[in-house]
Amino acid sequence: FFSFLLLSVSASAFAQQQPSSAAIEQKVTTLLQQMTLEEKVGQLNQYSGRELTGPASNRKNDLLNSIRSGQVGSMLNVKGVKDTRDIQAEALKSRLKIPLLFSLDVIHGYKTVFPVPLAEAASWDMAAIRLSAHVAAKEAAASGIHWTFAPMVDVGRDPRWGRVMEGAGEDTYLGSQIAKARVLGFQGEKLGGTDAVLACAKHFAAYGAAIAGRDYNAVDLSPQQLWETYLPPFKAAVEAGAATFMNSFNTLNGIPATGNSYLQRDILKGQWQFSGFVVSDWGSIGEMVPWGYAQNPADAAQKAITAGSDMDMESDAYHQNLAQSVKASKVEVAQVDDAVRRILRKKFELGLFDDPYKFSDLKREQKVLNDPQNRVAARQMAQKSMVLLKNEKNALPLSKQLRKIALIGPLAQSKRDLDGGWTVLADTTEIVSIYEGLTKRAGTNTQVSYVKGCAVTGDSRQGFVAAVEAAKQADVVVLTVGETWEMTGEAKSRTDIHLPGVQEELFKALKATGKPVVVVVLAGRPLIFNTIADSADAILYAWWPGSEGGNALANVLYGDYNPAGKLPASFPRAVGQIPIPYTQYSTGRPVTKPGQIKYKSAYIDELNTPRYAFGYGLSYTTFRYADLKISRPTMTAAESIQVQFTLTNTGKAAGEEVVQLYLRDLVASVVRPLKELKDFQKVMLKPGESKIITFTISKEKLAFYNQQLAWVAEPGDFNLMIGSTSDDIRLEGKFALVP
Ligand code: BGC
Repeated sequence: FFSFLLLSVSASAFAQQQPSSAAIEQKVTTLLQQMTLEEKVGQLNQYSGRELTGPASNRKNDLLNSIRSGQVGSMLNVKGVKDTRDIQAEALKSRLKIPLLFSLDVIHGYKTVFPVPLAEAASWDMAAIRLSAHVAAKEAAASGIHWTFAPMVDVGRDPRWGRVMEGAGEDTYLGSQIAKARVLGFQGEKLGGTDAVLACAKHFAAYGAAIAGRDYNAVDLSPQQLWETYLPPFKAAVEAGAATFMNSFNTLNGIPATGNSYLQRDILKGQWQFSGFVVSDWGSIGEMVPWGYAQNPADAAQKAITAGSDMDMESDAYHQNLAQSVKASKVEVAQVDDAVRRILRKKFELGLFDDPYKFSDLKREQKVLNDPQNRVAARQMAQKSMVLLKNEKNALPLSKQLRKIALIGPLAQSKRDLDGGWTVLADTTEIVSIYEGLTKRAGTNTQVSYVKGCAVTGDSRQGFVAAVEAAKQADVVVLTVGETWEMTGEAKSRTDIHLPGVQEELFKALKATGKPVVVVVLAGRPLIFNTIADSADAILYAWWPGSEGGNALANVLYGDYNPAGKLPASFPRAVGQIPIPYTQYSTGRPVTKPGQIKYKSAYIDELNTPRYAFGYGLSYTTFRYADLKISRPTMTAAESIQVQFTLTNTGKAAGEEVVQLYLRDLVASVVRPLKELKDFQKVMLKPGESKIITFTISKEKLAFYNQQLAWVAEPGDFNLMIGSTSDDIRLEGKFALVP
């Protein structure tokens, strides 16, 4: 089979990964020559510093002594200008005065909380996502932080896995674009700016493929799936200049990621020429012992450094054992040197040797953390991330003439839940609840009455009576259901992702009043809510929208903002369908008759289709796709094809549409999915306005990993599909790649 082998490394793509500058390399070399073995190992240790700012304790003493004697390279969980300055001053008492790197999980905001990352992915808006990361970086940097443990670029196809919340959803292409936007948002174009922090692409690799969706579990993955689905967002992060990587808790085909030389040395530092450093996940070096991959912490340290893990987060295995292992010739000093060199390089690039307090200034901290523009950005991001799943008889937007709104549901007055997991300065008083946002927006002519109805979990129906009563008195019911913030996130895997408790029953009781019921879902993952999906008048998926959630939601409900979010992950109908990404296969039992279950590889008790497909989301306006033109029927690998069509806003409101380009390679040396997202554009149109949309198809969009794991585009026929969602294809065409 003739095929085109594509070079996966292009000179320009890796520009940012080239050794920073000859001058910095020289400084690193000079410093390294002055370091004792113990000082070198010192740079490889990272500890959590929560105790450092607390009362006296043994741990506090030990840590401070280690810092003063140059045995610590980085701290996590120390934040704020005052504390970071104080602790940096301790590090500067060490012989070589090497500054510490202060790191933190700044995942979706520092002081100003943005929507959770999965929600942001629903915006399909790269500029907004980049801005969100930039605001987070700016606030964190002003508060003494040098390095964030984000973005999480793990593809997540199993909504039972609680960490889907932190990623960009199920799709590799969308996830890769978002990885790039986030890295650039955190770091800026060049390290060292005052508003930037080091980014960390995590968790390398395949953490999202945990067996049965159980966090920290083993991962068993074909080489094809690893390369085709899970690795590309990491590669995109490297190409965007990500300064650091974090490895991960899971095994990959039997080898812990932390001790995985194929991942860290061959792929990341070898093929991808990554010049930054790899930090372990929390204690993951030590965890190779209970996995049964290392005899003891000394053995684990040896295996981790040999496999390319540069920095030990919190397991203390490097600190306790590495120097000894080098002296016993079990670990080559060259490996330690390489790890130290990678870490020092980033400290120099950040400018820490010029001014170890560079980012620390109490005045700037106050100013940046309280900049009202940050909240504006958070509100806009929250609006962009909400997805309108259903809207019958124009239940939404809410009419300004409404007299009475019954706001019902356990989450309507909650503040903390709106922020979701991974918050840093979670000051709940600064969160705008849905009740507050809606009351403010409704104004004095519309009365908003609130009744809780039930709790998120538990089976008490006692509150139903009051809720139904309030509904009867109102013109419309806004029912706010979902998950509490603790229900999704790290270590929050669930076997059942139905809307918890009696919330759907509450919905039924309200629906029975005959009043229109608009349902707002707050959650960090795709949930199942079939009754609501069948009979609600409108459904808005608001995720966990952050500090400005209540205001953003009110703007969307009232149509001040026309929703344009599209799901970054498929929503199943039943837990038994999981995983159900849109990248399904034709199988050997394809459709024979129209109207039949689509693929005969089917369940006898459930459809094969998701409840809501990847890429799905409605608007208050409608769009027409027409006049598809494909510039030529065939192309060679050296050529490209232009695809054009006309998009028209056929409704009455201005709005944005995310137009999605999918391809299918009909016959290939490795079976290809029915559809793969290859491009998209977010387009704003006024009512009645039309625009010609153009996509370019080059050989990169046709390539995949073959049996030898070469990235190839094979000649043959391709289907081209342009859709408003992955299951609503509006325009179709064909072309062929020819030798
Ligand atoms: C998580 C990481 C996180 C680290 C530090 C770990 O448990 O898996 O994503 O960055 O803790 O807080």
